[in-house]
Amino acid sequence: MPRRSEKLFAEAQRYLPGGVDSPVRAFRAVGGSPRFIARGKGPYLFDADGKKYIDYVGSWGPLILGHAHPKVVAALQKAAKLGTSYGAPTELETTLAKLVVKAFPSIEMMRFVSSGTEACMSAIRAARAFTSRDKIIKFDGCYHGHSDGLLVKAGSGGATFGVPDSAGVPAAYAGLTLVAKYNDTDSVEGLLKANKGEVAAIIVEPIAANMGVVPPKPGFLKVLRSLADAHGALLIFDEVISGFRVALGGAQELYGMKADLTCLGKIIGGGMPVGAYGGRREIMERIAPLGPAYQAGTLSGNPLAMTAGIETLKLLSKPNVYKRLEKTSAKLEVGLRTAARDAHRDVAITRIGSLLTLFFAASSADSWDAVAKADRKQFGDFFHKMLKSGVYLPPSQFEAWFVSLAHNDADIDKTVKASAKALAT
Ligand SMILES: *Cc1c(COP(=O)(O)O)cnc(C)c1O
Repeated sequence: MPRRSEKLFAEAQRYLPGGVDSPVRAFRAVGGSPRFIARGKGPYLFDADGKKYIDYVGSWGPLILGHAHPKVVAALQKAAKLGTSYGAPTELETTLAKLVVKAFPSIEMMRFVSSGTEACMSAIRAARAFTSRDKIIKFDGCYHGHSDGLLVKAGSGGATFGVPDSAGVPAAYAGLTLVAKYNDTDSVEGLLKANKGEVAAIIVEPIAANMGVVPPKPGFLKVLRSLADAHGALLIFDEVISGFRVALGGAQELYGMKADLTCLGKIIGGGMPVGAYGGRREIMERIAPLGPAYQAGTLSGNPLAMTAGIETLKLLSKPNVYKRLEKTSAKLEVGLRTAARDAHRDVAITRIGSLLTLFFAASSADSWDAVAKADRKQFGDFFHKMLKSGVYLPPSQFEAWFVSLAHNDADIDKTVKASAKALAT
């Protein structure tokens, strides 16, 4: 029994809504009580009761190097001694920006913020300022943070709780957000035609990973590019998860594409709170103090976050890093497929690089409508069996599993063995 976790959870619930600071952590989608974490090391988490887990959450994406990477920790310790924030520019911001621009040729100029939510919200503002249009198109099942206009048909959070939209979002805001179907370009074209000259931007997760992993169909992104161009709308790639995850240059490198604006977060902060948005110079020049679109942040670009990001991106820039990550992740996928087949279980497994989802009782996984049919109860049962075996999966059917560079073959073997056992019963 996770006695200490349960005690801590009971106490936390008196002070924090649901005992947590982000809803998915509360285990509502899988039942039971969340494990309170005492520390992380490499691919492992240790909970407050001392139990060790192989972790496939990785703080929901940032920890591609694993927990407490010695080089990142050492750099942070050194940086902290020099002060944690100045509210004035530092060389570190330019250093990290250069690393980002090198990986993303579509980004000529960028702005650091403190979360992916801020990045997406601000990219939309930049797009509206540049085009002088108000409406945006997003896709059902895609998540772009919790800002008002983007919390519409937003994937896992809403899916998990059965609330498609959030309370507290004025209908007037949500009304400017048009919702298209992921992997369905006709739905986008229809919206663009019906709202001629009014759409500022199409925002998309180029690899959807917030309804579980749903890869783009071949050609989907290229058609979005040409539709945006034909209608004078900007194309915004939300690469908060896929950036530096599926390749150094994210989905844009993988599919040979250029977005007008790109949103980043997660990995570029190396485990510290960071987001960034950037793109074509003429668009970014609309941002204050150069242009009239206001956007600011007390802790934006702070030295600790920049340092963790710089150290992380430097390590990711070494040769063969993504090849190694692909090999480990492919081994996990093959193991899970074999385990599911041997147990005669009806599952769909999607994977792009180190992002993976195992959907229960879903015949396909190419759209929100398809994955929404997945069996949440079967997942919850599987999740708890895995947890008992020492494997910490994302506590929802509609989330990606994150493999890190710290996972080794033995970790994958243990995970596959545990899943074979869990799927067999
Ligand atoms: C996590 C995420 C965000 C929001 O980032 P936060 O740092 O949690 O605000 C935005 N877009 C995508 C694709 C994400 O996965």
